Amino acid sequence: MGRNLLLEGVNAAYSDAVDRLGLDDNIRVLLDNPEREIMVTVPVAMDDGTLKTFRGYRVQHSSVRGPYKGGIRFDVNVDLEEVRALAALMTWKCAVADIPYGGAKGGVACDPTGMSKRELEALTKQYARMMEPVIGPQIDIPAPDVNTNDQVMSWIVDARLHTGALWARASVTGKPISLGGSLGRREATGRGVASVALQILRKAGMDPANCTAAVQGFGKVGSWTAQYLHEAGVKVVAISDISGGLFGKDGIDISGAREYVSRSPSGLLEGYDVSGLQRITNEQLLALDVDVLIPAAMEGQLTEANANGVRARMVVEAANGPTTFEADRILNERGIPVVPDILANAGGVVVSYFEWMQNLHGAQWSFDDVMTKLESKMTKACNDVWTVSKEEGCSMRAAAYMLAVNRVAQAAAYRFSL
Ligand code: GLU
Repeated sequence: MGRNLLLEGVNAAYSDAVDRLGLDDNIRVLLDNPEREIMVTVPVAMDDGTLKTFRGYRVQHSSVRGPYKGGIRFDVNVDLEEVRALAALMTWKCAVADIPYGGAKGGVACDPTGMSKRELEALTKQYARMMEPVIGPQIDIPAPDVNTNDQVMSWIVDARLHTGALWARASVTGKPISLGGSLGRREATGRGVASVALQILRKAGMDPANCTAAVQGFGKVGSWTAQYLHEAGVKVVAISDISGGLFGKDGIDISGAREYVSRSPSGLLEGYDVSGLQRITNEQLLALDVDVLIPAAMEGQLTEANANGVRARMVVEAANGPTTFEADRILNERGIPVVPDILANAGGVVVSYFEWMQNLHGAQWSFDDVMTKLESKMTKACNDVWTVSKEEGCSMRAAAYMLAVNRVAQAAAYRFSL
């Protein structure tokens, strides 16, 4: 396995927080390694009659603060180290958001774009069956992540129906509304990113109504982020996905772009042709002169190689781990604040928590109720991180990790009499 920059970055940030907090070695003994790592080989009968196997993972990093929580991704680049890093991120994210969960992540190394719906269903259900003993409302609650959605979550519910109809639903979040999903879960991550971006801009003395933004990634997270920023008066001048990007100095009609993507068979911006917009590459988007740069695609986008080219006034991490450790150092040195993933994109798991609560209580909250509760969670988390960062004179990432590690350490101290 090559160097995993994501894992190195997450470990470095956690380790830095342990040092800053002056915690003793017991906490490292407890948290340096994930509690449980499971690797499975998932057999799938393919449409052409052959049997193929796929490597699947679930890493349960910490259950100190509650049941494990975190998404499942389907992607060619999934491997144990990536999932390990993403699982740890979930522990810290849930602690920053102050929801009663630990952290986990799952993944299957596959190319979902090259698979039929039937093959994906078979893969998902077989993966769910093989993970059966370690999943459940009181153990570990998966959710969507890269290339997985409410359909994939429904297949998991179906594979777990024998545990009881209500119990099966409460064992995953991000479900469709008709199968026990929560109103607002679809929008939650992007809504949370926009809320955090607006709050931090204001704290930094900038008026969102005079700000411009560039959003990399126009999927489940980026498209809603762009939408909500646009609605709040931010001029979104650039968007992109794997097919490339679009730039318009007077702002992009986000609703129009979302409408186009929802109707296009590829689900991509490819072919979206509106006058006044010019095509750019993802690399160009990352180097635009904007107030807020929002990487909302994959990890490792801002690196040692391009961090010096960033001209944004602020970076808000909507993806998990979009900034490598080195890039983070460069941006800090250059005085460009980075709002870390474990704060910025916590809205998704916060509404997952609301979904799980509704399932366990047989309740259905209104959209407005969910949004109000989400806003209050995100505001509290923003204020907490901002305060620590001012008090300690450290970056928002260092502050968020200090808050998170400290919350986990406090629970651990009680549980293990440390
Ligand atoms: N996959 C999302 C994340 O990285 C959501 C996880 C969840 O809702 O459990 O935060």
